Amino acid sequence: MTANARTVGFQSGERNIFFHILTACNLSCRHCYINTSQHGTETLSRETMEAWLELFADKTKKSNVIFLGGEPTMHPDLAFAISKAKSLGMAVTVDSNGYLFNDLLEKSSPDLLDYLSFSLDGPDSLVNDPIRGEGVFDVCTENMRKAVAMGYNVSVIYTVSNLNIDHLHRMIPLLSAIGVKRFFIQVIGLRGNSAQDSGGGNGWQVSPKQWLDTVPAVAQQAADAGIHVTFPKVFLEADEPFECAGLVTENFFIFPNGRVYHCPLCEDHPIHALEIRDNILVANPGLTEDNFFQLNIAEGCVMNKLLQPDTNSYYSEGKPIHRISCCLLKQEILP
Ligand code: SF4
Ligand code: SF4
Repeated sequence: MTANARTVGFQSGERNIFFHILTACNLSCRHCYINTSQHGTETLSRETMEAWLELFADKTKKSNVIFLGGEPTMHPDLAFAISKAKSLGMAVTVDSNGYLFNDLLEKSSPDLLDYLSFSLDGPDSLVNDPIRGEGVFDVCTENMRKAVAMGYNVSVIYTVSNLNIDHLHRMIPLLSAIGVKRFFIQVIGLRGNSAQDSGGGNGWQVSPKQWLDTVPAVAQQAADAGIHVTFPKVFLEADEPFECAGLVTENFFIFPNGRVYHCPLCEDHPIHALEIRDNILVANPGLTEDNFFQLNIAEGCVMNKLLQPDTNSYYSEGKPIHRISCCLLKQEILP
C-alpha cells in the first residue's frame, strides 16, 4: 500500500526555522505541548521578531520559517512578520488552530504566505472537539474554506492518538471537499508493546502495530485523492541508515524566552544548544542537546530512548525490534 511513499532525506543546504512568537493561546487542547515554565510567557515585540528573523536569515540557503505559538494569529504583528520573512527570502508557513485572529487573511496575502496550516484532530466535531475544544471544528473548517476561497494554500495537521486514529480515513473526503493541498499526519506518541494493541486503557498512545496498520494506508488513499501527504517515518527498515537531524541539518526551534533548540524532543529541558541574548545568538555553555546527538545506540534516536523509553520494544534477547528514526524524518506521498 505504501509503494509510493518516499522518505524525505535531510537536506544539508536547507534551514528550517520554527519560530514561536508567543506562547498564549485561546484554546486548551488536551495534548498541548507548550510549557510556559520552559518556553516563557512573553509575546515578542514587532522589533524583536524583526531582529530575530534577521539573525536566522541566510540567503545562500533554502530557508523555511514556520510561525508558531501558542496561537500565532493572536499576535497583532504576524502579518508584518510574514512580510519581513518573505523579504529575507524565506518560504513562510503559519501553523494556526484555525481561529485566525487579527484579520490575518485580509492583512496578509497568498503571495507572502506560502502555506497556512490548520490543526484539526477529527473529521467532525464529535471527534475533534473533545480533543481541541467545544466549537473548534466549526470555526476551523469555516476559516479553512474562507482561506481557500481567497487563494491561500491550505494544509492540515492531524495529530494521531488513540482517541482519533480510527477516524483518520474519514479526513480524506473532508479535505478534498474543502480543497486542502497538503496533509501532515503527526503522532502523539507510540507505546512499545506491540502485542497489546487493543486500544483499551492505553490513554493517548497508539501501538506501533496500530500506526503501521493504519497511517501508511490512509496516507496512500489521501494521495490517491489528490492530496500531498507527509507523515513521520518512526520505524526504520533494517537497511535504512539512522541519521540525527541535529548533526546533519539546520533546524532551529526558537522560543520567546530566547531559547533555541536543534531538537524538538529536547524542548522541555534546559539543554538548548543556543540562546538569543540582546538580539545576539550565543552558544549555551555546559551540557546541551548537542552532546547527546553524538551518541550511537542500537535503538536509533537517543533522545527518544531517554525521554520516551516506552517507544522502544525488544526481542527476548534484548535486541530492539525497531530502530526509531529521528522525529524529524518524514515520508511523503505525492498525489
Ligand atoms: S492550539 Fe496549539 S498552542 Fe493552543 S492549546 Fe492547542 S495545541 Fe496548545
Ligand atoms: S529527535 Fe533524536 S535523532 Fe532527531 S534531532 Fe533529536 S536526538 Fe537527533
